[in-house]
Amino acid sequence: MIEDIVQVKRSKKARRVALRLDPVERIINLVVPEHMPLKTAYNFARQHENWVHKTLEKLPDTISYTHGTILPVFGDQVRLDITTDSALKRTTLKQYDDVLKIKTYQEDPSSRITTHLKKIARAGLSDIASEKADMIGKEIKSVKIRDTKSRWGSCSQDGNMSFSWRLMFAPYNSIDYVVAHEVAHLIHMNHSRKFWKLCKELSFDYENGKRWMKQNGNSLMRYGHKK
Ligand SMILES: [Zn+2]
Repeated sequence: MIEDIVQVKRSKKARRVALRLDPVERIINLVVPEHMPLKTAYNFARQHENWVHKTLEKLPDTISYTHGTILPVFGDQVRLDITTDSALKRTTLKQYDDVLKIKTYQEDPSSRITTHLKKIARAGLSDIASEKADMIGKEIKSVKIRDTKSRWGSCSQDGNMSFSWRLMFAPYNSIDYVVAHEVAHLIHMNHSRKFWKLCKELSFDYENGKRWMKQNGNSLMRYGHKK
Protein backbone atom coordinates (compact mmCIF):
# COMPACT_ATOMS: atom_id res chain seq x y z
CA MET A 1 0.00 0.00 0.00
CA ILE A 2 1.22 3.45 -0.90
CA GLU A 3 0.58 4.58 2.69
CA ASP A 4 3.31 2.19 3.84
CA ILE A 5 5.85 3.31 1.29
CA VAL A 6 5.84 7.09 1.24
CA GLN A 7 6.54 9.26 4.23
CA VAL A 8 4.18 12.18 4.79
CA LYS A 9 5.77 15.57 5.29
CA ARG A 10 3.44 18.45 6.06
CA SER A 11 4.78 21.67 4.65
CA LYS A 12 3.79 25.28 5.24
CA LYS A 13 5.73 26.40 2.20
CA ALA A 14 4.50 23.84 -0.31
CA ARG A 15 1.73 25.04 -2.59
CA ARG A 16 1.13 21.73 -4.30
CA VAL A 17 1.34 18.12 -3.26
CA ALA A 18 4.53 16.44 -4.48
CA LEU A 19 6.55 13.25 -4.26
CA ARG A 20 10.21 13.76 -3.60
CA LEU A 21 13.08 11.34 -3.32
CA ASP A 22 15.37 11.73 -0.34
CA PRO A 23 18.49 10.02 -1.70
CA VAL A 24 20.30 9.99 1.65
CA GLU A 25 17.52 8.39 3.68
CA ARG A 26 16.50 6.42 0.59
CA ILE A 27 12.82 7.15 1.05
CA ILE A 28 10.13 8.97 -0.90
CA ASN A 29 8.57 11.92 0.87
CA LEU A 30 5.01 12.91 0.16
CA VAL A 31 5.08 16.66 0.61
CA VAL A 32 1.61 17.85 1.62
CA PRO A 33 0.56 21.51 1.79
CA GLU A 34 -0.59 22.57 5.25
CA HIS A 35 -4.33 22.47 4.68
CA MET A 36 -4.66 19.66 2.18
CA PRO A 37 -6.58 16.61 3.45
CA LEU A 38 -4.31 13.60 3.75
CA LYS A 39 -6.72 11.60 1.64
CA THR A 40 -6.22 13.92 -1.34
CA ALA A 41 -2.47 13.64 -0.94
CA TYR A 42 -2.54 9.84 -0.80
CA ASN A 43 -4.70 9.80 -3.92
CA PHE A 44 -2.03 11.78 -5.70
CA ALA A 45 0.64 9.35 -4.49
CA ARG A 46 -1.45 6.40 -5.64
CA GLN A 47 -1.64 7.84 -9.13
CA HIS A 48 2.16 7.92 -9.22
CA GLU A 49 2.76 4.59 -7.55
CA ASN A 50 4.72 3.31 -10.55
CA TRP A 51 7.11 6.21 -10.36
CA VAL A 52 7.57 5.60 -6.63
CA HIS A 53 8.50 1.94 -7.16
CA LYS A 54 10.76 2.63 -10.12
CA THR A 55 12.57 5.44 -8.35
CA LEU A 56 13.26 3.29 -5.30
CA GLU A 57 14.40 0.35 -7.43
CA LYS A 58 16.77 2.55 -9.41
CA LEU A 59 18.62 3.79 -6.32
CA PRO A 60 22.24 2.69 -6.56
CA ASP A 61 23.54 0.39 -3.83
CA THR A 62 25.07 2.16 -0.89
CA ILE A 63 28.81 1.92 -0.47
CA SER A 64 29.83 1.26 3.10
CA TYR A 65 33.29 1.46 4.56
CA THR A 66 34.67 -2.03 4.66
CA HIS A 67 38.20 -3.36 4.33
CA GLY A 68 39.19 -3.03 0.69
CA THR A 69 36.49 -0.52 -0.29
CA ILE A 70 37.76 1.90 -2.94
CA LEU A 71 36.59 5.48 -2.57
CA PRO A 72 37.05 8.13 -5.26
CA VAL A 73 38.57 11.06 -3.38
CA PHE A 74 39.00 14.22 -5.45
CA GLY A 75 39.39 12.02 -8.51
CA ASP A 76 41.93 9.64 -6.92
CA GLN A 77 41.21 6.08 -5.90
CA VAL A 78 41.70 5.61 -2.19
CA ARG A 79 41.53 2.14 -0.68
CA LEU A 80 40.38 1.53 2.88
CA ASP A 81 42.69 -0.68 4.89
CA ILE A 82 40.88 -1.56 8.11
CA THR A 83 42.42 -3.58 10.92
CA THR A 84 40.10 -4.44 13.79
CA ASP A 85 41.56 -5.49 17.11
CA SER A 86 39.48 -5.42 20.26
CA ALA A 87 42.65 -5.00 22.33
CA LEU A 88 43.28 -1.56 20.83
CA LYS A 89 42.45 1.41 23.04
CA ARG A 90 41.58 3.88 20.32
CA THR A 91 40.95 4.29 16.63
CA THR A 92 43.71 5.77 14.51
CA LEU A 93 43.55 6.88 10.89
CA LYS A 94 46.53 7.49 8.66
CA GLN A 95 46.16 8.86 5.19
CA TYR A 96 48.65 7.84 2.50
CA ASP A 97 48.45 8.72 -1.19
CA ASP A 98 46.12 5.93 -2.19
CA VAL A 99 45.41 4.15 1.10
CA LEU A 100 43.59 5.18 4.23
CA LYS A 101 44.81 2.97 7.06
CA ILE A 102 42.43 2.53 9.96
CA LYS A 103 43.30 0.67 13.12
CA THR A 104 40.36 0.28 15.41
CA TYR A 105 38.76 -1.55 18.31
CA GLN A 106 35.32 -0.46 17.07
CA GLU A 107 33.08 -2.87 15.28
CA ASP A 108 31.94 -0.10 12.96
CA PRO A 109 34.34 2.84 12.65
CA SER A 110 32.15 4.50 9.97
CA SER A 111 31.55 7.73 11.81
CA ARG A 112 35.29 8.18 12.45
CA ILE A 113 36.01 7.62 8.77
CA THR A 114 33.31 10.10 7.75
CA THR A 115 34.74 12.71 10.13
CA HIS A 116 38.16 12.19 8.59
CA LEU A 117 36.79 12.42 5.04
CA LYS A 118 34.88 15.60 5.84
CA LYS A 119 38.16 17.20 6.91
CA ILE A 120 39.76 16.20 3.63
CA ALA A 121 36.71 17.53 1.78
CA ARG A 122 36.91 20.88 3.51
CA ALA A 123 40.64 21.28 2.90
CA GLY A 124 40.41 20.24 -0.75
CA LEU A 125 37.37 22.36 -1.57
CA SER A 126 38.86 25.38 0.24
CA ASP A 127 42.03 25.10 -1.84
CA ILE A 128 40.16 24.97 -5.13
CA ALA A 129 37.87 27.83 -4.10
CA SER A 130 40.75 30.10 -3.00
CA GLU A 131 42.63 29.45 -6.20
CA LYS A 132 39.63 30.42 -8.29
CA ALA A 133 38.77 33.44 -6.14
CA ASP A 134 42.35 34.68 -6.64
CA MET A 135 41.79 34.60 -10.40
CA ILE A 136 39.04 37.21 -10.07
CA GLY A 137 40.59 39.19 -7.23
CA LYS A 138 38.02 38.13 -4.64
CA GLU A 139 38.43 36.71 -1.19
CA ILE A 140 36.73 33.80 0.48
CA LYS A 141 35.86 34.31 4.10
CA SER A 142 34.96 30.82 5.08
CA VAL A 143 34.27 27.41 3.64
CA LYS A 144 31.83 25.19 5.50
CA ILE A 145 31.09 21.55 4.89
CA ARG A 146 27.47 20.49 5.08
CA ASP A 147 25.42 17.35 4.86
CA THR A 148 23.01 18.70 2.26
CA LYS A 149 20.85 16.46 0.14
CA SER A 150 19.98 18.53 -2.88
CA ARG A 151 22.38 21.46 -3.01
CA TRP A 152 26.02 20.91 -3.78
CA GLY A 153 27.18 24.36 -2.89
CA SER A 154 26.10 27.81 -1.86
CA CYS A 155 27.70 31.19 -1.59
CA SER A 156 26.81 34.44 0.15
CA GLN A 157 27.66 37.86 -1.17
CA ASP A 158 30.24 38.45 1.55
CA GLY A 159 32.25 35.36 0.67
CA ASN A 160 30.95 32.60 2.92
CA MET A 161 30.75 29.35 1.01
CA SER A 162 29.43 25.95 1.84
CA PHE A 163 29.63 22.65 0.04
CA SER A 164 28.18 19.21 0.48
CA TRP A 165 31.01 17.01 1.76
CA ARG A 166 30.00 14.22 -0.63
CA LEU A 167 31.10 16.41 -3.52
CA MET A 168 34.58 15.02 -2.84
CA PHE A 169 33.49 11.69 -4.39
CA ALA A 170 32.62 13.27 -7.77
CA PRO A 171 34.98 13.23 -10.76
CA TYR A 172 37.47 16.05 -10.54
CA ASN A 173 36.01 18.11 -13.39
CA SER A 174 32.62 18.06 -11.65
CA ILE A 175 34.07 19.18 -8.33
CA ASP A 176 35.91 21.90 -10.22
CA TYR A 177 32.72 23.04 -11.94
CA VAL A 178 30.66 23.21 -8.71
CA VAL A 179 33.36 25.26 -6.99
CA ALA A 180 33.71 27.52 -10.05
CA HIS A 181 29.94 28.01 -9.95
CA GLU A 182 30.00 29.22 -6.34
CA VAL A 183 33.07 31.40 -6.88
CA ALA A 184 31.42 33.03 -9.91
CA HIS A 185 28.58 34.02 -7.56
CA LEU A 186 31.06 36.26 -5.73
CA ILE A 187 30.70 38.58 -8.72
CA HIS A 188 27.23 37.75 -10.06
CA MET A 189 24.60 36.81 -7.48
CA ASN A 190 22.33 35.45 -10.21
CA HIS A 191 22.34 33.01 -13.11
CA SER A 192 22.62 35.57 -15.88
CA ARG A 193 24.57 35.08 -19.10
CA LYS A 194 27.45 36.99 -17.60
CA PHE A 195 27.43 34.60 -14.66
CA TRP A 196 27.60 31.48 -16.85
CA LYS A 197 30.36 33.01 -18.96
CA LEU A 198 32.48 33.60 -15.86
CA CYS A 199 31.63 30.17 -14.49
CA LYS A 200 32.92 28.65 -17.72
CA GLU A 201 36.12 30.70 -17.58
CA LEU A 202 36.75 29.53 -14.04
CA SER A 203 36.23 25.82 -14.82
CA PHE A 204 38.65 23.66 -16.75
CA ASP A 205 36.03 21.30 -18.15
CA TYR A 206 32.76 23.14 -17.69
CA GLU A 207 30.54 21.15 -20.08
CA ASN A 208 31.43 17.66 -18.88
CA GLY A 209 31.65 18.66 -15.25
CA LYS A 210 28.22 20.24 -15.28
CA ARG A 211 26.61 17.44 -17.26
CA TRP A 212 27.96 14.75 -14.96
CA MET A 213 26.59 16.50 -11.90
CA LYS A 214 23.19 16.86 -13.50
CA GLN A 215 22.99 13.23 -14.55
CA ASN A 216 24.82 11.52 -11.70
CA GLY A 217 24.87 13.93 -8.77
CA ASN A 218 22.40 11.80 -6.82
CA SER A 219 24.74 8.83 -6.97
CA LEU A 220 27.15 10.65 -4.65
CA MET A 221 24.64 9.96 -1.88
CA ARG A 222 25.71 6.32 -1.94
CA TYR A 223 28.72 7.15 0.15
CA GLY A 224 29.04 7.72 3.85
CA HIS A 225 26.36 5.43 5.22
CA LYS A 226 26.70 3.34 8.32
CA LYS A 227 27.10 -0.37 7.83
ZN1 LIG B 1 24.11 29.26 -8.64
